[in-house]
Amino acid sequence: MKAKSLVLSLLLVVSAFLYGCNANKNDGQTKKANDVLTVYTTIYPLKDFAEKIGGSYVKAESIYPPGVEAHTFEPTTQTMKKLADADAFIYVGAGMEEFINKTMQTLQNEHVTFIEGTKGIPLLDSTSEHETSEEHHDHGDKDPHVWLDPILSIQIAENIKNALIELKPEAKDTFEKNFASLKQQLQQLDQQFQAVVNTAPKKEILVSHAAYGYWEKRYGIHEISIAGLSPSNEPSQKELAQIIDTAKKHHIRYVIFEQNVTPKVADIVKNEIGAEPLRLHNLETLTEDDIQKKKDYFSIMKENITVLKKALQ
Ligand SMILES: [Zn+2]
Ligand SMILES: [Zn+2]
Repeated sequence: MKAKSLVLSLLLVVSAFLYGCNANKNDGQTKKANDVLTVYTTIYPLKDFAEKIGGSYVKAESIYPPGVEAHTFEPTTQTMKKLADADAFIYVGAGMEEFINKTMQTLQNEHVTFIEGTKGIPLLDSTSEHETSEEHHDHGDKDPHVWLDPILSIQIAENIKNALIELKPEAKDTFEKNFASLKQQLQQLDQQFQAVVNTAPKKEILVSHAAYGYWEKRYGIHEISIAGLSPSNEPSQKELAQIIDTAKKHHIRYVIFEQNVTPKVADIVKNEIGAEPLRLHNLETLTEDDIQKKKDYFSIMKENITVLKKALQ
């Protein structure tokens, strides 16, 4: 009897093992049959690049709701469930997403692939772009706003392209071709930035959110930030006085706000120096209006160039 039950349980183990293999195999086949990769991203440009490179092979969606404050975003349980079922999750890295390590840990047994957009890209220190204080940092030492530099965006796009090829090697030719045309568009955008800044009489801009450090490096613009890297941090009275001084010294006529945040402090400075408000788009999230008007990375960046041209006069 003992031997018989041993054989029986062995059989059970073996069949369970075989069943397991079959289940995996079936899963793999369904996966292959399904031609579209489900991709989630954090900031908007990652979604736009993933779609532009992926074409009909990729369905991408940002987990950020329209107009959300990207620097303090935390995913909900529902979002975590979506990520668990996705093929890939593309994030910036560089300290942009405070929740990323915890999310990776939670989803480590899921089949979702994590793709770091800024992998291998030399990052700026976030302190280097400050006129006033170095005290207000709450999301890392590096400046994460890499996507605002069209040339560095080519590297982000290349990271995405390489990851998509690994996920779907049979679509390699399409991904390579789409990446090449995206790269060309980004190079043209860079030339448009160069042209505007090179002919501008002024190099300083006064911004409410220090998101444009990479323009400093690439184009020689000087960004004077009102609220530091995080829009929730307001400068002290002393820092405020310094900012107003600097703005007056450089004859700054415009204060640049953003599409998703308008800190009160920027209003104070605007009133103090009598400068007109302009809006730059940091592309972290789209607004409802952007979505309705079907704007993309390039149409928004071209609007940014127009604003920059005015601000640098
Ligand atoms: Zn930002
Ligand atoms: Zn700071």
